[in-house]
Amino acid sequence: MNSANEIATDIVVIGAGLTGLTAAHYLNKKNQKFIILEQSDKTGGVIQSKCEDGYLYEEGPNTGVVGNTTVVELFEQLSDKCTIELGGNNVKKRYILKNGKWEALPLGLWSAVTTPLFTFKDKLRLLGEPFRKVGNDPHENLASFVKRRMGKSFLDYAIDPFIIGVYAGDPNYLIPKYALPKLYNIEQECGSLIGGAFKKGFIKKSEEEKKVNKKVFSCIGGLGELTKALTASVGAENIRLGAKDIVVNPSGNAYIITYTDAKGELNTINCKKVITTIGAYALEKTLPFVEKSQMRKINSLHYTKVIELALGFDKWEGRKLDAFGGLIPSSEKRNILGILNMSSLFENRAPEGGALVSIFMGGVRRQDLIALTDNEIKRVVEKECQDLLALHEFNPDLFKIIRHNFAIPQYGVESGERFETIAQLEAQFKGLFIGGNQRNGIGMADRIKQGKELAMEAL
Ligand SMILES: Cc1cc2nc3c(=O)[nH]c(=O)nc-3n(C[C@H](O)[C@H](O)[C@H](O)COP(=O)(O)OP(=O)(O)OC[C@H]3O[C@@H](n4cnc5c(N)ncnc54)[C@H](O)[C@@H]3O)c2cc1C
Repeated sequence: MNSANEIATDIVVIGAGLTGLTAAHYLNKKNQKFIILEQSDKTGGVIQSKCEDGYLYEEGPNTGVVGNTTVVELFEQLSDKCTIELGGNNVKKRYILKNGKWEALPLGLWSAVTTPLFTFKDKLRLLGEPFRKVGNDPHENLASFVKRRMGKSFLDYAIDPFIIGVYAGDPNYLIPKYALPKLYNIEQECGSLIGGAFKKGFIKKSEEEKKVNKKVFSCIGGLGELTKALTASVGAENIRLGAKDIVVNPSGNAYIITYTDAKGELNTINCKKVITTIGAYALEKTLPFVEKSQMRKINSLHYTKVIELALGFDKWEGRKLDAFGGLIPSSEKRNILGILNMSSLFENRAPEGGALVSIFMGGVRRQDLIALTDNEIKRVVEKECQDLLALHEFNPDLFKIIRHNFAIPQYGVESGERFETIAQLEAQFKGLFIGGNQRNGIGMADRIKQGKELAMEAL
């Protein structure tokens, strides 16, 4: 350590991923004095878009959903810095693998009746869904919830692959009350999922709500353009990159934060408020004043490991890529979770006549795969692609492996205690706001919404 540098500000935001940058964007709009501390040498967190040899690929999330009014508002506010790109027509078509064959998810009534994905018995049983008893166990897992309301084949060939696509998770572990609160609340409030969906159609929407079209988005130039735009909006001068060993301690009605900067110097910031947006696994070291028993309730959250692959082909000779992609139910026992056809969703992702796909491996059921070497991963992917993408020759022109050790938090039965503990800590330590993906949802739309809420609470 060299000399100690000491400064004062109003608010410190820890983490410059989508949540932290969004929070800072809204603080900035309200002319607040703030500093963002980020341990890595770049902003964006897991959102990183890369251009190479004519391909534009993602190293983290590939798409978001225009799922709430804050997403709409944020893109409007950043319109001079980045442009939202909605997924093309192929977005609606999605495949599920059944018995080794891709089957399209039904989009209309006729396809719902004729699809081989669900059993005849379960299709008939669905007619009785509005009359089924409302569940009374708030900790019922998702698998049991779906079997009870819809039937096992819907669990196996709709919900299981959906959960693989969103959480890389397991419906036997996730608790709808915490992982899919909208679904849980529909049953509790409307008595049925079909009835709830029907009722929703009659709810009057404000002009802002009408813009929440639930469409799939990226940005022109990739999702990294969104975090780049946020970084520009927030101002690089307010961001300290390479800030290691951040430690927060309360001091009277304020906080003292120490960290080591990129030059190895010890820095101190005195501030009135702190917003953390880092994962649950990183909180213990950062907030050492939190009692161990309380911290255990937060960092017991399990994050699944995911391997992401970006594969580019200058000349595409495989199966027609005419859909969003395909998801693979766990009952199919394959080595990959799903495939996203990025170049058929968005412009300029691959050279003309070529293709870019993203493939996911691992997740809660195959945590072991992250330990494979690059060559072993390549062999696994080659075998799966030859079969599932009808690629007889596997010679990708772009082959990138991205390992995520803390990819997606799994909102299990322990989540209630975690949410309560965070609320207790925020009440106990005025001016402390604990955000990040340990609460309020895991998707980008959730992160954007939470980022704004954190800023508003801190104001
Ligand atoms: C592989 C993958 C695929 C995904 N796919 C989708 C998708 O298709 N659609 C979707 O909506 N969402 C998806 N998500 C989720 C979405 O990407 C995240 O919810 C969102 O980007 C998280 O933003 P964040 O700011 O909360 O966290 P992060 O992006 O993790 O940012 C946290 C930041 O804090 C920093 N940090 C961590 N620890 C410390 C510390 N101790 N001190 C200082 N800084 C620290 C990190 O370096 C990072 O920059 C995916 C996520 C992953 C990993």
